[in-house]
Amino acid sequence: MEYRKLGQTDLKVSAISLGTEHLWCKKLDLMNSVISHSIDNGINYFDVVFSFPEYLRNLGTCFKGKRDKVYLTGHLRSGTHGEREHKYRLTTNVKESEKYFNRVLKELQTEYVDVAFIQMVNALDDYHKVIEPGGVLDLALRLKKEGKLRYIGMSMHKPAAALEAVKSGKIDVLMYPINIAWDLQPGRKEVCSACFKEKVGLVAMKGFAGGRLFLKQAVVRFTPTQCLSYILSQKGVTNVVIGPSDVEQLKESLHYNEASKKEKEYKYLISKLNEEYSGICIYCSHCQPCPANIDIASVFRNYDLKMMKKSPEYKKALKKTDEKVRFIKPAWIREKPAAVKKMKGKPQECLECGVCMERCPFDVDIISKMKQVAKSK
Ligand code: SF4
Ligand code: SF4
Repeated sequence: MEYRKLGQTDLKVSAISLGTEHLWCKKLDLMNSVISHSIDNGINYFDVVFSFPEYLRNLGTCFKGKRDKVYLTGHLRSGTHGEREHKYRLTTNVKESEKYFNRVLKELQTEYVDVAFIQMVNALDDYHKVIEPGGVLDLALRLKKEGKLRYIGMSMHKPAAALEAVKSGKIDVLMYPINIAWDLQPGRKEVCSACFKEKVGLVAMKGFAGGRLFLKQAVVRFTPTQCLSYILSQKGVTNVVIGPSDVEQLKESLHYNEASKKEKEYKYLISKLNEEYSGICIYCSHCQPCPANIDIASVFRNYDLKMMKKSPEYKKALKKTDEKVRFIKPAWIREKPAAVKKMKGKPQECLECGVCMERCPFDVDIISKMKQVAKSK
């Protein structure tokens, strides 16, 4: 196992680390076998994401006597639904966050976590709320002073807020989705470069896009080794948390450590992916700004939706496309710049200047499609 320094912290973490998200509903025996196998194979970083009592209690049992061998995280804002203690709820309430965090420490039978992540800080206004005086960041700073956590992190999905957090000097670690498919979306890889530049530890999550990169019907299929090889070769990435449901899945990922150079090769698959997406609008708005103030992504999306209702052939073709789009662009990583939301230009006002086409990473013939939309009005 390779070990890497997590940003400017003094933690040397295993390049492959363990996320416990998919173990929350498992029996103690299974959980224990996954954790033990991980430790035996060199994993030393474990992400503890929920505050469900039974899940925490079981993890506490699994780590008993092993606390000095592992780094443990906890998440602030990770709550439950009132009496339904096994239902996840994101809480923005500072007092509640502290209550759940204390539960994490108590049930894990530890006095501190190595990194506490402020969870799911996605939109910019949410980030600003978190850092305002008396907000969750202040809570984290106090808990740090009290010795209940060593380093402060944020788990985030969207680039704009993530970039601001990384450049702010307020966090030691960022947890962020990185995988071959979603990184095709423009702007996402800048977060890796920023972490590298600012020396912020970068923990990659969702490395297998929720398993969608392995599906038989996926446009291009990858192996866990190829996914890990891609993630761990991105500049700025420290480690990746995998989320196995059992020991077999864990072994499939750990195979990376003994895989051949050939098994780790992934670049030819990226070319294949690029070919697949060529000409398809994924509504990413990377073609902006448009001098005629046209919100190109929305115009195309609305046109596609309208045509889907009108024409069964169009619907069939678009459904196929939509499968691909959803594959690389799940809802929680979508982001439209605020300036684009205000654009009210009409398709008929297109100047055919072509600057959008130079910017589009997916080679969409925007001028032709805009003419098509204008004609349909
Ligand atoms: S035309 Fe290209 S850049 Fe513009 S929204 Fe579509 S895919 Fe993105
Ligand atoms: S070609 Fe049309 S849609 Fe594209 S930037 Fe120019 S005016 Fe806007």
